[in-house]
Amino acid sequence: ILKVSGLIKRFGGNEVIRGIDLDVEKGERIAVLGASGSGKSTLLRCLNFMEMPDAGTITLDGKLVGHREAELTLVRQRIGMVFQQFNLFPHMTALGNVMEGLRTVRRMSKPDAEARAERELARVGLADKAAHYPAHLSGGQKQRVAIARALAMDPELLLFDEPTSALDPELVGEVLGVIRSLAEEGRTMLLVTHELGFAYHVATRVIFLADGTIHEQGTPDEVLKHPRRERTQAFLARHK
Ligand code: ATP
Ligand code: MG
Repeated sequence: ILKVSGLIKRFGGNEVIRGIDLDVEKGERIAVLGASGSGKSTLLRCLNFMEMPDAGTITLDGKLVGHREAELTLVRQRIGMVFQQFNLFPHMTALGNVMEGLRTVRRMSKPDAEARAERELARVGLADKAAHYPAHLSGGQKQRVAIARALAMDPELLLFDEPTSALDPELVGEVLGVIRSLAEEGRTMLLVTHELGFAYHVATRVIFLADGTIHEQGTPDEVLKHPRRERTQAFLARHK
């Protein structure tokens, strides 16, 4: 469903993504690993055009994505993103956060958006928190609201950027549980994570990024248990 070729992204003179080619098939769950600064977040942000690539092409369902604002809005609807820091609107309740895109982007009526948002909150186990503001939710609950908000837009592809690294250890499980259930539904996803055990069990493919390139990729067994390249081995040794 997504095809990336020759992707390059620079910040000033710093080339952060150096020619990445990536094909994502429907139903694939790709775990993206790499050291801090290797370009994981930048890659994900380029995929839904939160960052504009400097070179390369991105094709979604066989259609080349151009740079017109209307096109980008559509792409951002079809590719949902969940961030490490949740990025919820603090002045809106959980329900309001999930409704927002449905109202402003989908132009759904208020009752329809409300009903849909309630369903999505129930799906992540937060039916009873709809009226709560982010400040009154735990980190794990905030992240589940963020996931519900992404799901409400019916994305074809979900991008997760270290969704559990800002959480207290005891809250990680509830968020991984939601992601696992999305995996079981056959959702297509790209997940940046340092939860290697989770990646091993849930991913269909693992990509190891180094210096803005795909340094090694393969099945979870190949990359996580039998890495062939030295830098992958060193990374895994540090994350045991
Ligand atoms: P982490 O594991 O710490 O999240 P990462 O792999 O996600 O790291 P990126 O955030 O993609 O890494 O950053 C890659 C490089 O790009 C870093 O050197 C970073 O300083 C630089 N960079 C990222 N965003 C910007 C920006 N908006 N402006 C300038 N430099 C940036
Ligand atoms: Mg990052």
